[in-house]
Amino acid sequence: MEALRVRCYNVRFGDAILISIPDRTAAGSPITRHMLIDMGNVLSGAGGQDELFAPIIQDIQSQLRGRPLDLYVMTHEHLDHVQGLPYAHTKLGISLQARHAWLTASAAPDYYDRHPEARRRLEALRQAYAQIERFLSASPSLLSPALQAVLNNNNPRQTGDCVDFLRSVGRKTWYVYRGYDISRRPALRDAKLEIWAPEEDASIYYSPILPMALNAPADFSLALDTLSPPAGVDAGTFYNLVEMRRRGFMDNLLAIDRAANNTSIVFGLEWRGWRLLFAGDAEIRSWQTMFHKGILRPVHFLKVSHHGSFNGLPPAPILDTVLPQPAPDGRPRHAVVSTFPGTYNNVPDAVVLEELAARCTLHSTLEIPDGAYLDIVFPP
Ligand SMILES: [Zn+2]
Repeated sequence: MEALRVRCYNVRFGDAILISIPDRTAAGSPITRHMLIDMGNVLSGAGGQDELFAPIIQDIQSQLRGRPLDLYVMTHEHLDHVQGLPYAHTKLGISLQARHAWLTASAAPDYYDRHPEARRRLEALRQAYAQIERFLSASPSLLSPALQAVLNNNNPRQTGDCVDFLRSVGRKTWYVYRGYDISRRPALRDAKLEIWAPEEDASIYYSPILPMALNAPADFSLALDTLSPPAGVDAGTFYNLVEMRRRGFMDNLLAIDRAANNTSIVFGLEWRGWRLLFAGDAEIRSWQTMFHKGILRPVHFLKVSHHGSFNGLPPAPILDTVLPQPAPDGRPRHAVVSTFPGTYNNVPDAVVLEELAARCTLHSTLEIPDGAYLDIVFPP
């Protein structure tokens, strides 16, 4: 009997995870089921390098041996999770296929027609994004590398193109949420999948945008003059104002970023008594929702959310539910973080990594070369 294997690739700042599950065919012969979760990295800076995808895609192909993936999961609509397969298709001429694809519920083409409140809130976020983008392109001196990374990663146009491509990866595409019927999508005999998040109504994840006062033309002219304080204005006061504005952008961009992260598909996988949790980029709001719905349970494996950010770690009582101390059944426990420093501010967060390492064996893609993988194995 083979072991279950989670293979985590180093894509720098992004995710690409291949799960290989020993299972049986309808006739009872052994077969390995392969599931790919996300494939992508950020567009800007050192955290995003597309050349990394070639050896990764080739490794996945060699694992599949000519068969399609049993399942492809697009956890949420961020470039660092979606742009790898479109890149492989257009630049490498390699198209991975899957029998089934799960895309997060709110990526469904008719989702916002069916959910007017979510539409209203999404439109507010999109408007804020467009304002920030316009404002920063008129005053590039305000644009820090971290702002650029968050701005790029949330670009709705580029993300939309990738998501459109991903609709065709699966022979069957399902837009899933907690409670969605995933039985036989795909059919697994010895393993069980369960979706823990997102909720179908994505509007619960959208927090309000802080006022930015970017609309007035006077504001734009002020921005264009930011390199030096206007006559009669104290330089210290002036640069404080500039810094406050930069932070205001960052807060709002992070609110936009958070909304998408919280729509991540979070799912549990059970196999021979092992419980594995794949959390996408779920942030605190999603963890709280899962906690209050009472669906979180202790696990033996955690795909660390959001590249080890402070917001991706479940708050203490929730973490105690997922990774209680000590381990309830004495089995070994693992967590894996896929991350790259210097892309998002303070990601990965040292406190987060310390907290996880105190509870289980923590693996990180930082330990392996670009494009390489690390395997975590669960014996039968
Ligand atoms: Zn991400």
